[in-house]
Amino acid sequence: MAKKIKQIAIYGKGGIGKSTTTSNLSAALSVMGYKVMQFGCDPKSDSTNTLRNGKYIPTVLDTLREKSVVRTKDVVFEGFNGICCVEAGGPAPGVGCAGRGIITAVELFKQQRTFEELDVDCIIYDVLGDVVCGGFAMPIREGIAEHVFTVSSSDFMSIYASNNLFKGIKKYSNSGGALLGGVIANSINAGYAREIVDDFATRTQTKIVEYIPRSITVTQSELRGKTVIEAAPDSQQAQVYFSLAKKIAAHEKSETPVPLETKELQTWAATWSDKLLALETGMIPGGAAAGI
Ligand code: ADP
Ligand code: MG
Repeated sequence: MAKKIKQIAIYGKGGIGKSTTTSNLSAALSVMGYKVMQFGCDPKSDSTNTLRNGKYIPTVLDTLREKSVVRTKDVVFEGFNGICCVEAGGPAPGVGCAGRGIITAVELFKQQRTFEELDVDCIIYDVLGDVVCGGFAMPIREGIAEHVFTVSSSDFMSIYASNNLFKGIKKYSNSGGALLGGVIANSINAGYAREIVDDFATRTQTKIVEYIPRSITVTQSELRGKTVIEAAPDSQQAQVYFSLAKKIAAHEKSETPVPLETKELQTWAATWSDKLLALETGMIPGGAAAGI
């Protein structure tokens, strides 16, 4: 019997740290002994760079434009510790649906039985912030990925993007779509940042899978074109990514989130604004302890 491949999708606002988190997660899982494929779905096509010394790889869409017959080996490249790296790619700017690369790549791999041939245990789709376009919603809608995780900081725009994602997941939840595994909280240093993401997770009936600090080790490693797992495996930050990887490896049951209505989200944000102002002006004893 074919083994069950764990397929997860990572969504979140642009620039929030999806590719950084995904690459470190892939690297940690591979060091733990799993055969991992990282599937970059952002038209920026830079998802797998830190798994390959900062280098870009040819995308599936570009390769299909150049060659009439495309084989697995033309679009799957080996990265750190044997990770299979793929970039779906995007259309020429301004032409067509930017999500088409994902649809095309997944179809190609199905035809060629790529996942079986490479014997992967886990596929991680590094997707985008919004699920507006059909292609980007595909890993959720078609249930290609089974579990969705969102990367979010405590910034309102990233929470807003996560809440929108939750709406998308809920919409397809009754028709075989992927469900929510939880929130990966990124760039969490101040105490209040943790409280904000915790509160959002509670309100939407999900959980925080891991708190990842903003760390200079990430910046240093990225400047060398590497993940923290490769460049600084003994660092504290690497331990955080290993901890995330263990939780994701063990994760089995995802849930339908309960997104906030737009108005509820606005009220929630306004309440937090008041709380932060009170902390800043010292009206709440213990403001310093809360990390402000
Ligand atoms: P996305 O894929 O969501 O667009 P990236 O993963 O490319 O975002 O991250 C954007 C920038 O933020 C990168 O330069 C990355 O190094 C930095 N970054 C992300 N997470 C962290 C972190 N925890 N600590 C330090 N820098 C980070
Ligand atoms: Mg990215």
